[in-house]
Amino acid sequence: MGGSASADGPWSVIRDHKREMLLVLSGPSGAGKSSLIDAFLADRSEFVRSISATTRAPRGAEQDGVDYHFIDDDTFKSWVAEERFLEHAQVFGQHSYGTPRHFIEQQFADERSVIMDIDVQGARQIRAAMADAVTVFVAPPSRDELARRLRGRGTDDDQAVSRRLHKAEDEVSCWAEYDYLIINDDLDSALRKLRSVVAAERMRTPSA
Ligand code: 5GP
Repeated sequence: MGGSASADGPWSVIRDHKREMLLVLSGPSGAGKSSLIDAFLADRSEFVRSISATTRAPRGAEQDGVDYHFIDDDTFKSWVAEERFLEHAQVFGQHSYGTPRHFIEQQFADERSVIMDIDVQGARQIRAAMADAVTVFVAPPSRDELARRLRGRGTDDDQAVSRRLHKAEDEVSCWAEYDYLIINDDLDSALRKLRSVVAAERMRTPSA
């Protein structure tokens, strides 16, 4: 990131200025983060998606090592004790989720940027640990639309849907903690907004 003075003076510094980015997305389940991230990654080979570890069971067609690292409680606790997580949290007061630190460090060493989907507690930890992380809150256009999307997904029973709606209320109230807000009423326009965020962040100077 950035650069210091060199024989060429400022010219080589500004030419070489680049910014590997940790792009953190949060927002209620059903806000469309996964679709947005998939669409974003389709033409962004310099970005990779962080694969979280979780103690919850796989849903639908989810695959271990692709969607999540599915691990049991004891393994999760040992990873916490070994400080293998950059951040971790209990989401819905139920299951634990965490971002493996090594993967992120490896991507930065390879000059790649990372995009991740984590909850508001995790985003707070990332902000505290990495001041230059870029945080984006993705919100659905309304509560009714969120309820419609969650029921339409068909992956959760009624109890799980109402738990998610309840948590959504808490999460949406944290939107102002984030650097950017994207209201996802339409995937194409949300994608354009996310690309604009990345473009603007790339032009940021080290002192900004
Ligand atoms: P789901 O169970 O629907 O896949 O995810 C539930 C919530 O967990 C989502 O809001 C997602 O943002 C959050 N989440 C997924 N991975 C992580 C993680 O590594 N850390 C934290 N803090 N939250 C996560």
